[in-house]
Amino acid sequence: MRFGTRDGRFVLLADGRALDVHAASAGDLPWEPLAALGRWDDVRAFADSVDWAQAGPLEESCLGPPVPCPRQVFAVALNYHPHCAEAGFVPPESPLVFTKFPTCVTGPDATVRLPGGKVDWEVEVVAVIGRGGHGIERSRAWDAIAGITCGQDLSERVLQLAGAPAQFCLGKSFPGFGPTGPVAVTPDELPDRDDIGFASWLDGEPLQQGRTSEMIFAVDDLVARLSAVCPLLPGDLIFTGTPAGVGNRMQPPRYLRPGETLTSRVDGVGEIRQRFVGAT
Ligand code: ZN
Repeated sequence: MRFGTRDGRFVLLADGRALDVHAASAGDLPWEPLAALGRWDDVRAFADSVDWAQAGPLEESCLGPPVPCPRQVFAVALNYHPHCAEAGFVPPESPLVFTKFPTCVTGPDATVRLPGGKVDWEVEVVAVIGRGGHGIERSRAWDAIAGITCGQDLSERVLQLAGAPAQFCLGKSFPGFGPTGPVAVTPDELPDRDDIGFASWLDGEPLQQGRTSEMIFAVDDLVARLSAVCPLLPGDLIFTGTPAGVGNRMQPPRYLRPGETLTSRVDGVGEIRQRFVGAT
């Protein structure tokens, strides 16, 4: 099952068509994405029985982020060995967690204003929480996830690394720095939920590629470890970490420039695309 938002409303998606769950359920299911995800079991049951004849054609350009206003956005640093190595760190013994403040979330096809400084890319697989919970065991962690989507953990490195110790959150939270989409796909629809391929390109040139099977802390492990502390809520996002190939570890370092277009793909999910414009 594929889901997302159109004009801020929760929709199911299939074969180039979109179905507004609130309208198609005669008002039983909510149109508001967090409320719909809060009734995840009902949404799944509805999806199994839905009459797609009611669905209208989908204009891909109308899709917004799968979760426009998540309550919590978790992100994980240094979750791939090659990225650890390029960043000059030993692999962490437990996940290094920070937040991207939720106002940075934007849709799959966006124009992002560069705030100055040194803005870098980090393509990531993003987990969308459905049922969620507190103290979720790893063996049941996938059940807490509604879907997988594609994201960029855009990062302004000067602000991210300022101070000692550095603080990550603000430099990763400018408007537009959390693009996600174009849809979220339920884990059962992926060929292998533990081995998801993903990649990115800048103006068509390959930048990063990875597979989630190469993670230091796998998606289900992250859910268990995060939920051991924070109750995970419907619609929460987990940016699960980036592989090697970020710009600030290139020789010489390379950052995003006005006029460039960044394309990111998660296999089985789709592509997101950001165009960058300069600071005003
Ligand atoms: Zn990241």
